[in-house]
Amino acid sequence: MTEIKLHNTKTRKKEVFEPIDAENVRMYVCGPTVYDRAHLGNARPVVVFDVLNRLLRHVYGDDHVTYVRNFTDVDDKINARAAESGRSIGEITDETIQWFLDDMAALGAIAPDQMPRATEFIPQMVAMIEGLIASGHAYEAEGHVLFAVESYQEYGALSGRSIKDMIAGARVEVAPYKRNPMDFVLWKPSTGDQPGWESPWGVGRPGWHIECSAMSYELLGASFDIHGGGNDLMFPHHENEIAQSCCAHPDAGFANYWMHNEMLQVEGKKMSKSLGNFFTVHDLLEGHDGQPAVPGEVIRFVFLSTHYRKPMDWTEKKAKGADATLLSWKRTIDLWRDDVAKEYSGKNPPKVITAAVSDDLNTALAIAEMHTLAKKAKTSVEAAVALAEALAFLGFDYQHIWSHSFGHSLEKILGDPVDLERYEQLLTEARLKAIETNDFSEVDRLKSGLVAAGIEVQMLKDNIVLDITPDFDPSKLEALK
Ligand code: AMP
Ligand code: ZN
Repeated sequence: MTEIKLHNTKTRKKEVFEPIDAENVRMYVCGPTVYDRAHLGNARPVVVFDVLNRLLRHVYGDDHVTYVRNFTDVDDKINARAAESGRSIGEITDETIQWFLDDMAALGAIAPDQMPRATEFIPQMVAMIEGLIASGHAYEAEGHVLFAVESYQEYGALSGRSIKDMIAGARVEVAPYKRNPMDFVLWKPSTGDQPGWESPWGVGRPGWHIECSAMSYELLGASFDIHGGGNDLMFPHHENEIAQSCCAHPDAGFANYWMHNEMLQVEGKKMSKSLGNFFTVHDLLEGHDGQPAVPGEVIRFVFLSTHYRKPMDWTEKKAKGADATLLSWKRTIDLWRDDVAKEYSGKNPPKVITAAVSDDLNTALAIAEMHTLAKKAKTSVEAAVALAEALAFLGFDYQHIWSHSFGHSLEKILGDPVDLERYEQLLTEARLKAIETNDFSEVDRLKSGLVAAGIEVQMLKDNIVLDITPDFDPSKLEALK
């Protein structure tokens, strides 16, 4: 069996992954708060944990993995959106959830096995809170229920903070009913048109953190394997989840491996509306502000080119490069179209690729290995099949790539499509003639013209292969005519 190694935030080490039950490997990832379209950063954890989900399924079997990702559909930002738009909360959350699912499917992310909504688990949250009060870890004050952080010795261990440091660093105004400024809300009262549910503490709604503790317990049990999310969630959200779950189920371990992706930036800067570099996944997929549409697979490729624990910079240049690479790989596989169609299963990734991904999701290394495979695939059908299998394993639908998409995307991103086959033919004819006449000037002219236009030229023994590079500039081809 392939050995998987994962960096565990809890121990700050890369560890060999050993599931509690290899028959049912369990993963929980914190999902979005659904009041607006997902921005590009929100897609990073989705793609990262999709790769992990695919790896786990490859190693343990499709039926032996349970992947849960929640939707936070009760939150003050949702209430505010409902109030300002005059629409109901349900309408907003339903619409946003569907947008999210469509956008993430366009990025090649397989839907998790379960996608619980917080509002469907209120009784379970209430039961967990009652238990925490009974065991002395929580207290009621002025209609609120608060978790008493001092009742949990380990509080702060995940993010490596002490309660004292946290208090010193806290900028929030401390509510008078809190015993300790770091105590956090499990339940709060609802008034007016705020959504509310009956509870032993009056009509109210849950605090944010309790939903993940209650839903992961209900769907995955008191101990499960992997818990993930962006590293902005480490504190306070994950710290609070741990406190709640470990105090509610003191004999269980909650999550064994904690994984956090680093943040995404855009053109070297934090995404922000004021800097004008904020956009949603949908904006990119559809084209926005005069920019051409970027296909989902191109976005996915750019994401996977950076290791998940490194900050990732989204740039237009990278998108163009990814597009050119995918197009070039498609064309290479296409050289062997019939043979590949016979051999390809979509379930048999090469060992070098699974080895890279098993090493703490080293997708950047996997892509480097795929470049090597693509070079070999120019002259080897086995390498072409391996490349198609590698693409499938990383979530690039080979059949889909085959049939359309990149030609179109290239057209949109780089301007007019170029008929590379025509230039290959021209160059082949010129070479044949040159061999006869011993005059290679036309071959040299064509070759240097293509290179100047950003096309890679490979003169193989019985074949000439052209590839588009990120520097491709179709206007420079004019000179060749
Ligand atoms: P939110 O809806 O803000 O709770 O975010 C949903 C998910 O997106 C969480 O796992 C966040 O950690 C993640 N996330 C938010 N912003 C970024 C970003 N700029 N880069 C990477 N992940 C992000
Ligand atoms: Zn969570």
